[in-house]
Amino acid sequence: MKLKNTDALIIVDVQIDFCPGGSLPVAGGDQVARLMSGVAARFKVAGGRVYATQDWHPMGHSSFLDQGGPWPPHCVQGTMGALFHPELKLPIGTTIIRKGVNPEVDAYSGFLDSLLEESLKRNRVKRVFVGGLATDYCVLNTVLDALTLKFDAYVLSDAVAPADVKPGDGEAALEQMQKAGAKITTTEMVLATEP
Ligand SMILES: [Zn+2]
Repeated sequence: MKLKNTDALIIVDVQIDFCPGGSLPVAGGDQVARLMSGVAARFKVAGGRVYATQDWHPMGHSSFLDQGGPWPPHCVQGTMGALFHPELKLPIGTTIIRKGVNPEVDAYSGFLDSLLEESLKRNRVKRVFVGGLATDYCVLNTVLDALTLKFDAYVLSDAVAPADVKPGDGEAALEQMQKAGAKITTTEMVLATEP
């Protein structure tokens, strides 16, 4: 495998609230931040595009427990928890995609109500490589949407981590993505490609 300038990396929701110490932590989220930083640097060298999605909710978002939603408040606009994890190093030129901005709609997928599709198509992207948080929610839905939109999708299986609300959810999500046509690869494989 060789990276091309029609490849894009999509870093999903590597934010403080989704990492250990945050309000909705995913075990291993900080490790994902480190791994994705390395891959992002490689994409930059290869001339590929780097995207980072950011859950970006208004206060009182419908996905929050106090509004009858499933999650504790997280990634509230302008709060510390909504910031990218400090160990996530984003190359200059990274496109930030904010989602979950509409108070009434939860957006697990980076493609929902965002300019991600338009931007990828404008940049003639063919393959998307996806890692981040969490495997069984936002990574899953972003990858499934990418496939529906006819991108070749690769999941960086060592740089995702599941919420595992039910044990095994993360594994099931990986299987679901594969069945839908996603390919499974690792950050190690990407870093081993020729620059
Ligand atoms: Zn959210």
